[in-house]
Amino acid sequence: MDTPDSLLRNYGPPAFNAVRGEGAYLYDESGKGYLDFGTGIAVTSLGHSHPKWVRAVQEQASSLVHCSNLYGIPGQIELADRLVAQAGPGRILFCNSGAEANEALIKLARLHGRRQSNNEDGRRYHVVCAENAFHGRTFGGMAATPQEKVQSGFHPMLDGFRHGKLNDIASFDRLVDDSAAAVFIESIQGEGGIFPAEPGFLRELRALCDERGALLILDEVQCGIGRTGHFFAYESAGVRPDAVGMAKGLGGGFPIGAIWVAEPFADLFQPGSHGTTFGGNPLACAAAHAVLDVIEEEKLLDAVTKLSPPWHQALEALLQKHSAHITGLRGIGYMVGLQLQTDCRTVANAAREKGLLIVPAGHNTIRLLPPLIATKEDLLASVEILDEVLTNLD
Ligand SMILES: *Cc1c(COP(=O)(O)O)cnc(C)c1O
Repeated sequence: MDTPDSLLRNYGPPAFNAVRGEGAYLYDESGKGYLDFGTGIAVTSLGHSHPKWVRAVQEQASSLVHCSNLYGIPGQIELADRLVAQAGPGRILFCNSGAEANEALIKLARLHGRRQSNNEDGRRYHVVCAENAFHGRTFGGMAATPQEKVQSGFHPMLDGFRHGKLNDIASFDRLVDDSAAAVFIESIQGEGGIFPAEPGFLRELRALCDERGALLILDEVQCGIGRTGHFFAYESAGVRPDAVGMAKGLGGGFPIGAIWVAEPFADLFQPGSHGTTFGGNPLACAAAHAVLDVIEEEKLLDAVTKLSPPWHQALEALLQKHSAHITGLRGIGYMVGLQLQTDCRTVANAAREKGLLIVPAGHNTIRLLPPLIATKEDLLASVEILDEVLTNLD
């Protein structure tokens, strides 16, 4: 297919038109079904058209869709309560996407730095991110994302970003000086090719930030909301960040983003500091409530924790069998990357032909991002299809 004439060409031409989804499957115009392990890039956490989610969105749409943040929104307040219950004492700001969550987090870092340095043009404004990161396509997100393919054509970048090496605490130790307002990293790098921050590294970063008075901010836009078997990916490291960004899986397909800010820093945002027209509107919040309800009712965190090890074992066996094509397996829970020798786009295209959707990522990696409702059969089917694909490539 070509890029349609009326659309800008910022996306490559699509492989097919998607018209319907049901559970773990996405269907094209011809009625062909695909096991969807791309999940709209880690978004459709409950799979497609989960009945409980559909009902919640329909019911909310028939009573109130939007009213702006000029008025109180009971569903938004309840959703904030639920996220605070997950993350810890603090406050929530809602927005519409991952990039917007990250913009708000960068603004938080600037406010913190200004307070720390006690002057409006504060010396303290650097945000220390990681090499190979991805934080979105806005100017803040791009500056935080040190990748030529993201930044190309858009210079000059927003000032004030530095980049250390993920899992190399010495590199952060050098960069987090008294001009640094925050450290800002993904708990698991997604677009960059599925590179988890090691638990020990996160704990050392926590200690470093405490010592230097910098905020520890985690981007959980892709890895959060249950994908690792914990609600937040950082939980397994036993650290508590000062702020967290979320989006993708939170709405289960409806656009919503959010930031959580720990209590001691929550007052950095004051009336007038920030705002958004759509953020946290009643319909978006109803969608997110449905996601959280189903995660609880269907015990999806337990399911991810229980079904991941046999799936990872099967993927490990796939690696052994096809070591000429696969050179590494990384990830946690339902966020897995296969490092390939063979071009990742060739493998993703062949998998799609055989009815499996996966997403290419950095470092010639393919990402497998199953919905949290994936069954053992779905997970093993993904390995079987990849086995066929790689056998055909031999
Ligand atoms: C996708 C992503 C973003 C950007 O989210 P959008 O909703 O596309 O703006 C930011 N950070 C991470 C880690 C992401 O994976």
